[in-house]
Amino acid sequence: MTEETRLIHSGLAQTPLARTVGPPIQRGSTVLLPNAAALYDHGAHVTYGRQGLAAQNALTDALAELEHAQSVTLYPSGLAALTGAMLAVLAAGDEVLVVDTIYKPTRRFCDTVLKRFGVKVRYYPPSLDAQALMAVCGPATRLILLESPGSLSFEFQDVPAIATAARARGMLTLIDNTWAAGLLFKPLDHGVDISVQALTKYVGGHSDVFMGSVAVSAPGLIQALDDGVLNLGWAVSPDDAYQMLRGLRTLAVRMARHDQSARQVADWLSRQPEVAQVLHPALPGAPGGDIWRRDFSGACGLFAFIFKPGAPMAPAAFLDRLEIFGLGFSWGGFESLAINCDPQFPGRLNSGAYGGPMIRLHIGLEDPDDLIQDLAAGLAAWRAAG
Ligand SMILES: *Cc1c(COP(=O)(O)O)cnc(C)c1O
Repeated sequence: MTEETRLIHSGLAQTPLARTVGPPIQRGSTVLLPNAAALYDHGAHVTYGRQGLAAQNALTDALAELEHAQSVTLYPSGLAALTGAMLAVLAAGDEVLVVDTIYKPTRRFCDTVLKRFGVKVRYYPPSLDAQALMAVCGPATRLILLESPGSLSFEFQDVPAIATAARARGMLTLIDNTWAAGLLFKPLDHGVDISVQALTKYVGGHSDVFMGSVAVSAPGLIQALDDGVLNLGWAVSPDDAYQMLRGLRTLAVRMARHDQSARQVADWLSRQPEVAQVLHPALPGAPGGDIWRRDFSGACGLFAFIFKPGAPMAPAAFLDRLEIFGLGFSWGGFESLAINCDPQFPGRLNSGAYGGPMIRLHIGLEDPDDLIQDLAAGLAAWRAAG
């Protein structure tokens, strides 16, 4: 062989690999098969890298454990997981019922792509109980979309009752379980068919990787989701899958700290004169608290509060004064964040009847006393604004 050829064929994968704690980050589009017969023996061999290699497989195993699921599929973002799951189970002529407080980009997908493909979309208020929701279902209703709590205004739904009632009538349920990160609430244990989460948030945990997962257990759904990924061509990189696995290792300890700090901050906020209401389920008398205590093993770092009516520019003055809290979307990372929610409410059935401007906080892993000082400075700016 000439040097040209030798350079191309030297330094290739070596087996066996040394056994490290985490899986190898196998980069591969081509998978080399042992013989001619194996090339088309898709049952016995992985034949193409898009199906996922060592790191992706380790991640889906770990997520199946987390979600109490038989099977998990991966997508390049949380939104892609939500839309991929819907495309895998819906067909033209079906109807989907969507909770009014759904993540806004999910709503945009329903209103544009699903409608264009002949799927009817209707919205229902998160306050509907299972019986009232069943009463608005029609003969074409195939899927009910849930998000509990809503990730801006924190309404809790009676998910177990809705899932049980829907299943009895042959309808599927899909939940966006990002708030619980698969850890605080186990949708499949409560009869939900499809549990989706944006791993981008708490599983990633560092605000630097996109990914989404869909967890299912029914054999027909496992097949439908696998086919959906195959037909639509979704794949995630082994490097990103490895980052998600790394995040999973510390998910429980990070979450405990997010929860503890968020409760401390929420409790402090609830005693401030500028604040009308804090939407955190652990606070006494909070909306949804009964459902949360019954179904969830804890809370995360994400909650909201409502200002008393004040000067129009006061909420912006509050946000602009914050120094530790960053102003930005997304959440679940190690750092604290804040946004105003009101611009996202128009278009909902309930387009923002909350009685005052709403601010959403993500409480990160910083010292909560420092966060409270930062918020106190923000409240001073709110007062100074008017
Ligand atoms: C962020 C988020 C998503 C989408 O996740 P991406 O990875 O950003 O696409 C979906 N649902 C909820 C509730 C989210 O907060």
